[in-house]
Amino acid sequence: MHHFSLQGGDLFVEGCRISDIAREHGTPLYVYSAATITDNYDALATALAPLDPMICFAMKANSTLGVLSLLARRGCGFDLVSGGELFRVKQAGGAPHRCTFAGVGKTRAEIEAAILAGVYSFNAESVAELEAINHISGEMKQRAPVAIRVNPNVDAGTHAKITTGTYENKFGIAFEEIASLYEYAATSLKNLELRGVQMHIGSQITETGPFVKAIQKMLPLVSELKRKHNIQFFDIGGGMGIVYKDALASGKPDWWKANPQQMTPAMYAAAIIPLLKDLGLKILIEPGRFLTGNAGVLVTDVLYVKNTGAKNFVIVDAAMNDLIRPAFYDSYHEIIPLVASEGKGKLVPTDVVGPVCESGDYFTKDRLLPVLKAGDKIALMSAGAYGFVMSSNYNTRPRPAEILVKGNKATIVRKREKFEDLVRGETV
Ligand SMILES: *Cc1c(COP(=O)(O)O)cnc(C)c1O
Repeated sequence: MHHFSLQGGDLFVEGCRISDIAREHGTPLYVYSAATITDNYDALATALAPLDPMICFAMKANSTLGVLSLLARRGCGFDLVSGGELFRVKQAGGAPHRCTFAGVGKTRAEIEAAILAGVYSFNAESVAELEAINHISGEMKQRAPVAIRVNPNVDAGTHAKITTGTYENKFGIAFEEIASLYEYAATSLKNLELRGVQMHIGSQITETGPFVKAIQKMLPLVSELKRKHNIQFFDIGGGMGIVYKDALASGKPDWWKANPQQMTPAMYAAAIIPLLKDLGLKILIEPGRFLTGNAGVLVTDVLYVKNTGAKNFVIVDAAMNDLIRPAFYDSYHEIIPLVASEGKGKLVPTDVVGPVCESGDYFTKDRLLPVLKAGDKIALMSAGAYGFVMSSNYNTRPRPAEILVKGNKATIVRKREKFEDLVRGETV
């Protein structure tokens, strides 16, 4: 679900024409729809209401303060992976007691900060980490709430770089070792409160099957942990996928209902509620991409068109440093010209590439696109998750501004970087 649409052939976000926003704020530019984010949150909260869940936005997907504050004001919690993210949550008005702290490499400083802030739970990923949290909380004369991240060894059927729930990757602790590890923690790590259990099987999962399979595998273990250790919650992770192909059409309510490739909150809820509702535990979920992925676009300007005979290159002013997903995950972003008069005529196979000195700096290869010319502006759709957060200053390129649209109002939520920003803290 999203609020991007073509009106008279021009691309709009809510009540704003995106070409107007781009004219005012320049390119490259991230543009987000507030209503899309809050609608996605509300739809998920409503569908899962029978579980009375705690939704913790996996803020590594999009940690811009303007975005976080929208969710914080709705009572959303956050799934953190660093001390920096904890700092951001507080800046955005989020509540640390509704935050989980994940990640395989938490530092002492991060553990201390999270204990002081009163996070809801540490999601621990190794024995050594549990021992470290136990030691640090003991020094602080506290008991730290923890859950252990279980690797259920279920293949999520997604891209290798975003699969996390099999024994081939670094996340969590093997399913078979969990029961004895809780025993060990209960008897030997007295500064820990065994508050819950967690799993996360991967990202961009577009069907309910892998979630159901993983939950079913976990249920006997979870019940045992509840009985023996009185745990309070089962955190089933994130990973709900979004539509990247036909992203624009996926904003239409009828398409949303009719299209089988869209896993809606209702479908997700219908699959998991029966498994979880009688468990007697608080259910946590950690959606990232699902809440913000289709809520943002990256707007870029065509600088040059270059036809080499073999290839038709459209060179734009955004690059892999602004949006790395195509280079990193071979990901697909739909490309839409901003105004009806641009990108006309027959479709031609086109490579859309950026200015960075890397062959990997492309947004698409041999995509059938309308003929574009210098000065045309295009939107790379579905760039609201794992977009700006993964941007860098490679090639000493200032990072783009970010705009949050609400109705017919467009607000700058992050200024475009200046060259001076890029050398701050450096000395000759
Ligand atoms: C990345 C991550 C998420 C969110 O993944 P999405 O695919 O964006 O929903 C949730 N939980 C953990 C532990 C993660 O690492």
